[in-house]
Amino acid sequence: MAIVIIGAGIGGLTTALSLHAAGFPDIAVYERAERLRPLGVGINLLPHAVRELTELGLGERIEKLGAAPGTLAYYNRFGQPIWSEPRGLAAGYRWPQVSVHRGRLQMELLAAVEERLGPGTVRTGHHLLTVEAVAAAGGSGGVARFATAGGEVAVAAEVIVGADGMRSALRRQWYPDEDEPVWNGLTLWRGTARMPGFLDGRTMIMAGDAEQKLVAYPIGCPDADGNAEINFIAERRTHGLAGENADWNRAVDPRPIIDLFQDWRFPWLDVPALLAAAGEILEYPMVDRDPVDRWAHGHATLLGDAAHPMYPNGSNGASQAILDARTLAFHLATSATAAEGLAAYESARRPATTALVLSNRRQGPEQVMVLAHERAPRGFTHIHDVLTPDELTEIATGYKKAAGFHPDALNNRPSLTPPGALPSGAVDDRPSLIPPRVPGSTADGLVGEACGAGGEAGASLYGARP
Ligand SMILES: Cc1cc2nc3c(=O)[nH]c(=O)nc-3n(C[C@H](O)[C@H](O)[C@H](O)COP(=O)(O)OP(=O)(O)OC[C@H]3O[C@@H](n4cnc5c(N)ncnc54)[C@H](O)[C@@H]3O)c2cc1C
Repeated sequence: MAIVIIGAGIGGLTTALSLHAAGFPDIAVYERAERLRPLGVGINLLPHAVRELTELGLGERIEKLGAAPGTLAYYNRFGQPIWSEPRGLAAGYRWPQVSVHRGRLQMELLAAVEERLGPGTVRTGHHLLTVEAVAAAGGSGGVARFATAGGEVAVAAEVIVGADGMRSALRRQWYPDEDEPVWNGLTLWRGTARMPGFLDGRTMIMAGDAEQKLVAYPIGCPDADGNAEINFIAERRTHGLAGENADWNRAVDPRPIIDLFQDWRFPWLDVPALLAAAGEILEYPMVDRDPVDRWAHGHATLLGDAAHPMYPNGSNGASQAILDARTLAFHLATSATAAEGLAAYESARRPATTALVLSNRRQGPEQVMVLAHERAPRGFTHIHDVLTPDELTEIATGYKKAAGFHPDALNNRPSLTPPGALPSGAVDDRPSLIPPRVPGSTADGLVGEACGAGGEAGASLYGARP
């Protein structure tokens, strides 16, 4: 079965690896960028995604790229603790959470695709224009048409997967009346800075409320001087930006953003200093799209951000794309026909991701910060004066269940590796898309180091009164 994947992001590349591991030999990925570069800043791979990458034989490689947080802690805008919970192995998962640079992860997945499926698998410089259904011998198929520097190119396949991101051309073809992405009025400023670690050096923090917030976490190990690469997302309700400005790589002047956080100097983190230390700050409006009621159209389907773009709170965008990829490969490998496989994939993933898109609109697990602010806008003496332990626990566990990553559910769920799946494939000698690496160098921003995937307990839950 020939399978064409549109888009070489986290979703598209993981789909190629998953289909290959499930035994499909004829896979090609078409990407509009002329050259893949390690773009973006930090993202989180939650344990449910790390499980899938581990079962693809990539666990160790991915863990070495980033840092494994042991704790997630929520604070109000005065730095007062609201809720804290262990993460990854410390929380009882069989797989860690990994905080990693998005571009570094994408390059590692690309390297794995080239090793396993061959260097010519990812074809850059192909901008999807349309997909047409065609009747093929023995079933339906499709033709994907691309704009390239050399003119238009048509590629036939039995299955076409649209993993072409938030502004998916395939989705636009099927939903031409869909408007720009839906903006909730919040603007995100993202960046990384090298500076001394904060708290225990392995904690992801969120501070603030629905109006203004800061998220920070290390995405690499501390060096000999104790400095680590810290990823941050500063967020504020603003005016004047909207969905059409949703470009992941728009750099802006950092000074007004630092000013917004001038008073956020906690005993354990100087927020203005963190923002000022960033090489660049990227601006992005917090956008998603309304869920659609159908992903598959005969021979083709949607995956990742093309299928279910969601707000980044909850740290689930890349993780859900990885789950989609593995689920799609499982169902295509275990169904009698491609159409049945696509339908089973959609039944497994569309309702779950629709629930997540909507849950993220209600702030997801960050609801604890919203409630703490509503009930105590000037701060509190103890969090239990404003939120009961039951309320705090319910919000944290409810989101994990909805996202499919409650420890019990994840640890006990059967594998998505289809029976009889192949481990890895051949390498051919066509030229690589990946820039050559200098051994031991970090100059290209691609070389990571193992950090913090230990299972020792994270910080205990806040709440017990002294
Ligand atoms: C450059 C970039 C930087 C990002 N940075 C961050 C970040 O810092 N933090 C964060 O939380 N999320 C970031 N994201 C989003 C995050 O990667 C996704 O939410 C998540 O990984 C799901 O990935 P995806 O593969 O579904 O979509 P994406 O990561 O968006 O990948 C889609 C791919 O499809 C390609 N594509 C788009 N249109 C076409 C077309 N017509 N024809 C062919 N190919 C096409 C794109 O070039 C891209 O490579 C970024 C996305 C991009 C593209």
